[in-house]
Amino acid sequence: MNPMRKLFIVLAAIVCTTCQTVAQESALKGKKVLFVYGGWDGHEPKQCHDLLKPWLQEQGAIVYSYDKLDVYTDKEMMGKVDLIIQTWTMGSISGEQERGLLEAVRNGAGIAGWHGGLGDSFRNNTEYQFMVGGQWVAHPGGKVDYDVNIKDKKDPVTKGLKTFHMKSEQYYMHVDPSVKVLATTTFNGGGDAPWIKGVVMPVVWKKYYGKGRVFYSSLCHDANDFEVPEAFEIMKRGIEWAAQSKEN
Ligand SMILES: [Zn+2]
Repeated sequence: MNPMRKLFIVLAAIVCTTCQTVAQESALKGKKVLFVYGGWDGHEPKQCHDLLKPWLQEQGAIVYSYDKLDVYTDKEMMGKVDLIIQTWTMGSISGEQERGLLEAVRNGAGIAGWHGGLGDSFRNNTEYQFMVGGQWVAHPGGKVDYDVNIKDKKDPVTKGLKTFHMKSEQYYMHVDPSVKVLATTTFNGGGDAPWIKGVVMPVVWKKYYGKGRVFYSSLCHDANDFEVPEAFEIMKRGIEWAAQSKEN
């Protein structure tokens, strides 16, 4: 073969491989992401926002950051976003703010979050909890050693991952039986709650609320917990999945 032609084929193959890699990583490319952070400070909402935002932007997402819930009443914003990421532990949400959030998700915006920022927000709001698919109720023993077991090895969010260890809060949650459970943890009965020994609890799940995709992980009490590679990877993949509801 002509050396120039051979070089061209090799270069084309390299470019093609690069294209494929970029295409695989860019489920978020061009997606409008509303990132709402606040609530109880112990969960480091701003630090977690500052950790995730650059990654979202690297993927090509357009990120709108707000530290106030009032953005949920902005009809134009709520109508255009592909994904809402919320980290807002406890606190309270007004009726109008809640309606704005729930309507956007029902209409096809995805929502993704972790730990108390999605799974322990607005304790008085049952329709919000119906959307999330679970509510935190306890973390016996505080920060403890526990394993996360991959339940669904085929789902793109957990595919290729193996059992991993966390030293953090092990969330005990009231969970909607309709969620698709991707990972679980088993309680050992410590922390003054011996009666829950052997309980298998969902840790990562996905579900729908109307047309919107809902993704939740109970991991990552604070920004340091994102240093566990599997915990961060699960969150990234879940965010990518949830951002695609409007493509269906
Ligand atoms: Zn926590």
